[in-house]
Amino acid sequence: MIERLGELEKEALAKVAAAEDVKQLEEIRITYLGKKGPITEVLRGMGSLSEEERPKVGQKGNEVRTSIQSAIDEKNEELEAAALEARLAEEAIDVTLPGRPVRRGARHPLTAVVEEIEDIFIGMGFDVTEGPEVETDAYNFEALNLPKDHPARDMQDSFYVTDDLLLRTQTSPVQARTLETKGGEGPVKIVCPGKVYRRDEDDATHSHQFMQVEGLYVDKNVRLSDLKGVLETFVKQYFGADRTIRLRPSFFPFTEPSAEVDVSCGICGGTGCRVCKHTGWIEVLGAGMVHPNVLEMSGFDPEEYSGFAFGMGVERFAMLKYGIDDIRHFYTNDQRFLDQFKRV
Ligand SMILES: [Zn+2]
Repeated sequence: MIERLGELEKEALAKVAAAEDVKQLEEIRITYLGKKGPITEVLRGMGSLSEEERPKVGQKGNEVRTSIQSAIDEKNEELEAAALEARLAEEAIDVTLPGRPVRRGARHPLTAVVEEIEDIFIGMGFDVTEGPEVETDAYNFEALNLPKDHPARDMQDSFYVTDDLLLRTQTSPVQARTLETKGGEGPVKIVCPGKVYRRDEDDATHSHQFMQVEGLYVDKNVRLSDLKGVLETFVKQYFGADRTIRLRPSFFPFTEPSAEVDVSCGICGGTGCRVCKHTGWIEVLGAGMVHPNVLEMSGFDPEEYSGFAFGMGVERFAMLKYGIDDIRHFYTNDQRFLDQFKRV
């Protein structure tokens, strides 16, 4: 019996040594040390032994079991270490490989231009205010002195949501909204940047959606010369100190008098070229003194208060400054176009 146990031990240890993975080891353990294994089988025959032999066989049985178990444990550790080693080798990171370049984003040129315009007006004491893009007919038209039969109110020219709601056609309703909150007390000095919508056919110079910056200054004794001074300061800061402006009479329902504002051509310096259509001037914005009706509708006494307002197209300012010839470039997100503004 002791011999048989010795043979089983040898056999089991040889198998343990040859095991290739943890699963095989487990099978060996069950085969040799399990309740139905050959060692248990041998020990079951102890009943037929003499009193003298029995403890010896029992001791041998225990030794063999312990020997096989510790061989399995050892091999187990060895296999696990090898598996870990293999995985580490497989997942090794080569830190000397050069990294892949990360594509850097940039501000959209329109955002950059709006921020630049805001900064210039903030420097002159204006606050930045925003308003809703879905606007009521009352704020978009009525509060701005646009009579019911004004052509800008034509359904064909605006995107209506309901009979009374539309996508604002201008940022001017923010003027009316802001004036209303002041309870007839000045001063009000704001610029309002934002998107506006009109039913235009898209082409190189028109878009059904574009951006405006609206400006408003209402206080006691605000004069037309104040408007000219503010706009001239703005144009010199935005386009360059050598540029000047001129005001031409115009008409807007919400200002009286109204003016188109031209900036001197930066290409030819005023002598005339293709860009300025040989006039030396480029039209950039509309402005005027706030109409007394607008002040009155917003709770301001036109006898006591006066003010000026102006509105400019952000795309136009960006196109003129950076020599962009098609407004659609701003909306198609062509990376080749956007990449050119990384430093703006
Ligand atoms: Zn020119």
